[in-house]
Parts: sequence; structure tokens; C-alpha cells
Amino acid sequence: MKLANLDGRAVLITTDDTGNTTEPRAVDVHKASDGRFGPDPASLFADWPAFSDWALSARTDTPEDAVGFDTTELGAPSPEPRQIFAIGLNYTAHAAESGFEPPTGLPPVFPKFVSSLTGPVTEVTLPEGGNTDWEVEVVAVIGRTTSNVTEEDAWDHIAGLTVGQDISERITQLSGPAPQFGLGKSFPGFSPTGPWLVTADELPDPEDLELRCDLDGENVQLGRTNNLIVPIPRLVAELSKIVTLYPGDLIFTGTPEGVGLGRDPQRFVEAGQTLVSAVEGIGELRQRFVVAPEGREPR
Ligand code: ZN
Repeated sequence: MKLANLDGRAVLITTDDTGNTTEPRAVDVHKASDGRFGPDPASLFADWPAFSDWALSARTDTPEDAVGFDTTELGAPSPEPRQIFAIGLNYTAHAAESGFEPPTGLPPVFPKFVSSLTGPVTEVTLPEGGNTDWEVEVVAVIGRTTSNVTEEDAWDHIAGLTVGQDISERITQLSGPAPQFGLGKSFPGFSPTGPWLVTADELPDPEDLELRCDLDGENVQLGRTNNLIVPIPRLVAELSKIVTLYPGDLIFTGTPEGVGLGRDPQRFVEAGQTLVSAVEGIGELRQRFVVAPEGREPR
């Protein structure tokens, strides 16, 4: 199943099999389920197992029920997570470029605040005087209340995967006596996700996906999730030993090497540039960066 948030309504994504087009099309969940599920995308996570059972049996290939759309109309697949976790230094080469040994236990975990969450295609205002950087990541979406789950059972607690961009303003992030990871990565628009949630059964190997990030067409990050130091099921298991994970929660699972901070010379996003972040088998995000409108008080 591919589940998206089309202008505030839950939709299943399908492709037209007539051969005329491979453009994705949307089937409205509320209408297709005769009112049983939706239309609010966030409401589906409250009883994900029931929704998922229905979606697997739902007929979404009837062309008259599917409509075309523009990706700018998409919102976050899970638009109201109670918590957004992010994992730092979870790829060896990224830990090295950041000046750290690879973590031997659980890598650093920090929050991305929910106010920074958006859909997949957006315009992001660069914080004034900041060094804004890119981090493409696979994001796991939690599908049921989870506490003390084992690694073996963890996939049963994951609704699906989506693409995330952990946009990071490095000056804020690294200022002060201890790093301000949560704030530096939570400016407005700094947590784009989408274009849709893809369930694990749709992916040949949900633990081995290529992820990449291109800045104005130049490839800056290229990695595979089979290089995660702590893979997704173990992340869920380890987090759930300490915190309760709620349906709809997001886990940004870490970024591979190639961020601007780790380059020599360092490099950051400039106004007018476009960042495309993609994960194999899922889709892509597209962020265009702009400067703050005139007249706004500097930070
Ligand atoms: Zn990150």
C-alpha cells in the first residue's frame, strides 16, 4: 500500500494500468471505504491494523475512482505525530565526516519538533545568518502503541516507510555548552516527509534501500540503508525500552555521508537552490530555499 495525504484527505496511491500513463493517481480512502476510514489521514493510525487489512483488500485499480493530482497538493503522510524522533551518526561514514567514532551502543537520539513537519514539496525559508544543511533519511512511521517490543517483532509495529529530509541549521545546532540538535533541526519547514507512506510488503527489501540527495541537480548524498549501524527494527526495539511509541510517530533513522558540514570546504544551501531527496521504491521530496521576506526581525 502507498498512502498519501492529498490536501488533508487520506488517499491510496495507484497507477493506471491501461498503459496510457504511469503517473500516480489517488483513490479517496473515505469514499472507497464507504465512510469507514478517513478522510483525516491522521485518524488512520489510531487503528492501523484494521485500516491496513481493509486497504489490502480494497479495489483501487478502478480507473473512474482514481484521480490525478499535483505533488504540491500532498501533505505529510502522518500529519499529526505525537513525537518525532531522529537518530544521529547512524552511518559509519557520516559519523567519520562529523568527527566521531561510530557509536557502539544506541546512537544519539534527539527530537525534531512537530511544528517543523511538512509534506513533500515545499518552499523553505533559510534562517538568517545560518548554515542550512541537508540530511536525506528513511523515516519509519509507527503503526501501533509500542513499548518493549523485540527486534524480531518490530516490523509489525511499523506502519511503513517514507522519505524524510532532516534539514539542519548547523550554527544553532552546535551552539552552547551542549549541542542544540532539537532546535537546530526544527525551524519551520525543516522536516519535510512524503511523498507517501509505503508499507514494507511493497519493497523488495525494506532494510536495503538506496537513498540519495541532489542539490540543484548535483548529487551530494548517495547511500544504502543496509549500511545503517542500528537498523530500523533494532532502533524501534531500543527506543521502545525507554519511551512509548505512539501510532503515527516518526523516526528519522539517520543520514549517510555527504552533508555540507562534513565537506572541505564546508558547503551550505543558498537561496534559490532546490534540494531533491529520494529513496528507492518510495519517492522523492523537493525543497526550494528562499530568504526571509523583507522586514522580518533578524534572529
Ligand atoms: Zn539526521
